[in-house]
Amino acid sequence: MVNDELRLRPVLVLPNDVARKIAAGEVIDRPSAVVRELLDNAIDAGATKITVEISGGGVDNIRVADNGCGMTEEDLTLCAHAHTTSKIREEDDLLSLATLGFRGEALSSIDAVSRLEITTTRNGHDAWKLSLGKVLPSRLAGGTIVSIDGLFDNFPARKQFIKRASAETLLCRQIFTEKALAWPAIEFRFSVDGNSKKILLPADTLLERSIAALEPKESDGFFHEISGAGTGFTFSVILGSPDVIRSDRKNLMVFVNGRRIMEYALLQAIEYGTEGHFPNGAHPFGILFITIDPSLVDFNIHPAKREARFREAGGLHHAVSSVIRDFYRRYTFAEMHRGESGQGGFDYPHKDRIGPAFQRPSYPEMTAYGAASYTQGLSSRDPDVTINGAPRAAIPDAPLPFRFLGQVLGTFLAVEKNGALFLIDQHAAHERILYDELWSSSGAQELLIPYRIETSDAEENRQLEEKRENLMKAGFSLEDEGDGIWLVTSVPARWKGTQKDLAEELLDPSIGAERLVSHIYASAACRAACRDGDILDQETAKDLAFRAFALGEPVCPHGRPIWIVLDRDELFRRIKRT
Ligand code: ADP
Ligand code: MG
Repeated sequence: MVNDELRLRPVLVLPNDVARKIAAGEVIDRPSAVVRELLDNAIDAGATKITVEISGGGVDNIRVADNGCGMTEEDLTLCAHAHTTSKIREEDDLLSLATLGFRGEALSSIDAVSRLEITTTRNGHDAWKLSLGKVLPSRLAGGTIVSIDGLFDNFPARKQFIKRASAETLLCRQIFTEKALAWPAIEFRFSVDGNSKKILLPADTLLERSIAALEPKESDGFFHEISGAGTGFTFSVILGSPDVIRSDRKNLMVFVNGRRIMEYALLQAIEYGTEGHFPNGAHPFGILFITIDPSLVDFNIHPAKREARFREAGGLHHAVSSVIRDFYRRYTFAEMHRGESGQGGFDYPHKDRIGPAFQRPSYPEMTAYGAASYTQGLSSRDPDVTINGAPRAAIPDAPLPFRFLGQVLGTFLAVEKNGALFLIDQHAAHERILYDELWSSSGAQELLIPYRIETSDAEENRQLEEKRENLMKAGFSLEDEGDGIWLVTSVPARWKGTQKDLAEELLDPSIGAERLVSHIYASAACRAACRDGDILDQETAKDLAFRAFALGEPVCPHGRPIWIVLDRDELFRRIKRT
């Protein structure tokens, strides 16, 4: 409103059809929204076969046929009116929604902005057809066919935002794929301008359906279905092996009770669990399907139900990232124990393909050079003893493959290498080196005085019993003395930690048997590594940088990168000299 004449107009009630179109715009903003709503209705009707046909990008026609329960004549008469639904009866039903639809506004919204025709039957061939607001007898073998023509023809304000037919077709296809992913048991067909584009036969598993629907370029063996659960929810996630790398987040999706939602925190939970397997802007393949007690989630916050609110979001995020972390850890674990007596314990389908990422460094001096220096850190449990005091290994005779510039800000090692500036995080690098040493060393050391671990209830005893086997493999001997007393008589050869450290780690209920040893090693490495602010002398710093570059994987045990790299282009860009 720009001038006084407009500003001073009186308030009036909008004509009904204008109000209806405005409201419809919230739910139906483009053809793909029609596809989404009609698919939801077909799924809610219990269909086992659904066919979607679109033409002209969905603007000319969208037709969805299903073999679901259909409608009676009375249902059909009412279904396209505002706020008519068979799915909820009263406000309290919103607390326990089991259907995709519930707002009772999709068909009425579609009707407001297009020409809607529905043919449906509840009893055999005697069907009914709704067309131009009238219901007349018709014929149909079963289920429902919804057909809409001329979307937004009567709503130019909306039509001008519709893209080219090919772009709208793509969006419709995406919605089709999303629905198909979440409902593997249903057969889905999609055709565009009369040509069949996709047929998805019923699948037994989410894994099978995900591969058929998304057609990733890698072969099937690279994908796995992993499950998890928590209070009031279960989930399955389809994960690609670390070799399945994506440059964007298109293959990261979250579904909750059969609906795709855009929930950043859950996407983050997936990526968080991958722990450094996808550094530098690479992303994993991860399709998460959550089934949650409807009373723990609220979908009624977004007209198109693209968002959801969870009652116990923290527990859900934690469960998702730890199951995913366990999955990717197995790759690390399997690799680190390659050649050892099956300790990996993970049936890795492409064993010979993961080599390079974790290969031990093959620098000739490495054996003589690597052994002594940083393990010293592990025994200096006294916080006053810094790395300065530790005897150093000799720098190899060969010239260093980088130019060491110095320690900066008390925390970073600045190094020039391959025409780029590396800033190495000294704590993270040292931590990773120690962590890898723990994994690669074998054998155990007897404790002169065994550590005593006291449990407080039967549950803790049960958990320790469960964790015992993995601990034994790593070199911790754990004996149940009864009455809640456990004795640790030996520990892995290079591990150092106090009784208190170990007790805390063993009794932490949030760390399952599989992750426990990694966790114990990561904590030990963290305790022993040099700290931010520790001043390193030149030779120690060079040594640390050298060993950091020899690491198979430049991330700390928590998955954070060990260094940042600034090349000439980046530096020039930063000072805007292009
Ligand atoms: P909602 O799905 O939120 O209930 P809709 O406007 O999408 O609202 O649909 C209104 C009603 O029409 C539904 O509650 C359902 O009873 C009926 N209906 C719509 N589509 C179908 C279908 N494909 N098969 C059977 N019934 C349907
Ligand atoms: Mg609906």
